[in-house]
Amino acid sequence: MTATLPAHVLIFPLPIQGHVNSMLKLAELLSLANLDITFVISDFSHSRLLLHTTVESRFARYPGFRFQTISDGLPDDHPRAGERIMDIMPAIKNVTGPLFKKMMVAKECFATATRRPVTCIIADGVLSFAGDFAEEKGIPLIYFRTVSACSFWACFCMKELIEADEIPVKGNGMDLLVKSIPGMDGFLRRRDLPGFCRVDDINEPKLQIIKFESRQTPRAQAAIVNSFEDLEGPIISQIRAHIPRLYPIGPLHAHLQSRLAMKNIETISSSGSFWEEDRSCVDWLDAQPSKSVIYVSFGSITVVTRDQLLEFWYGLVNSGQNFLWVMRPDSITGESQIPAELEKGTKERGYMVGWAPQEEVLNHPAVGGFFTHSGWNSTLESIFAGVPMICWSYFADQMINSRFVSEIWGLGLDMKDTCDRVLIEKMVRDLMEVRKDEFLQRASNMAALAGKSVGEGGSSYCNLDNMVAYIKLLIA
Ligand code: UDP
Repeated sequence: MTATLPAHVLIFPLPIQGHVNSMLKLAELLSLANLDITFVISDFSHSRLLLHTTVESRFARYPGFRFQTISDGLPDDHPRAGERIMDIMPAIKNVTGPLFKKMMVAKECFATATRRPVTCIIADGVLSFAGDFAEEKGIPLIYFRTVSACSFWACFCMKELIEADEIPVKGNGMDLLVKSIPGMDGFLRRRDLPGFCRVDDINEPKLQIIKFESRQTPRAQAAIVNSFEDLEGPIISQIRAHIPRLYPIGPLHAHLQSRLAMKNIETISSSGSFWEEDRSCVDWLDAQPSKSVIYVSFGSITVVTRDQLLEFWYGLVNSGQNFLWVMRPDSITGESQIPAELEKGTKERGYMVGWAPQEEVLNHPAVGGFFTHSGWNSTLESIFAGVPMICWSYFADQMINSRFVSEIWGLGLDMKDTCDRVLIEKMVRDLMEVRKDEFLQRASNMAALAGKSVGEGGSSYCNLDNMVAYIKLLIA
């Protein structure tokens, strides 16, 4: 009987929005390939998903898909936003890690009469405890890096950066060029290094955690990156020297759309959000001229001060462009309310929501630019939609993503480390008016390459097929 059962993959993301989003997409892609999936998710994230989305109907279509919940080790009232999101790393290691091990043993690797025990684990690349468990039990392991290849590669090289005294990043050395990351000579400044490098002391936990976790990836039999060869080919080659079985299969959201379309299955895209999507913004966009709107969103974790908020707002209003602004209810430090001044003034030229159907918004004909925090999912969504960006990176991988967007791919402007209304006004005008054609042309070229990579015969398409074939061969 077992011999005829499909391979069974356990997928385990770090339970925060961007990671869950992309790993749910991977889960759906593997479900489409008829693999059984156990998706391990924190109770907290799971309840957020169920509250606001159609995730149940999205996955009810795949009889081999199951959710399994587990604690993320944080109290329910923890904000899980801003820099405090990093608290999740020790919590997950110390609380979730042992729970996971116990659960796997108690549930016999999720074997049932109709499911074989887990064939392989696809774990988020920052969950080294999953690797420990997989090695102990002899279960094949694939690490999934949810960040860009360039960010992963920079983190992978942290040891060399520290030895060369290029980190910690501090003081007036921020504009010095980085020399210890192969393939990034000549354009990467220390300020563009992942935000974890901005510490006073190399012993600071966040730096040490990321340095350690990044070097664990080669322990796995294979790794996945949510990227594509035409975008990050040279960096992907650098990583392949350490991890030969590397599968760049992104952009995952586009890949999923493409595979669903091939099978004539409807895309249920709005089903991975932790917040309720306010669709009224799509009606508002419908009434705006083509490419006239700049979409403003800083993702699921960023928090801003009231002063920064006002700089953004004055910059946007003074630019004379229409804007659609996502302001999460928990995104202003020390405030639970959007300042009245801001809400009132926005009525003339802008529209504000608490959470938007972002993929749909970016693909709306009225949207001509994206003012983003350069989170990797947002960056890929913008690239695939052919929308140029202004990057205000907040932390983590966003610092390096924004440098690649501006300097390497030429898809936008980088305003990291500044938050000034005059500069914002200028950048918005540059993106939306002065240099509009140039940016749109490059964005449209890259969007075409992204589309090609996930279409039949494209690099990401073939990499995914190869990975599925590899997983099927793992059945003992
Ligand atoms: N997102 C969304 N609606 C919003 C803002 C963001 O659906 O109003 C989604 C967005 O499409 C992306 C994810 O949330 O898939 C954010 O992930 P990203 O990696 O860009 O940033 P993070 O939230 O991890 O900082």
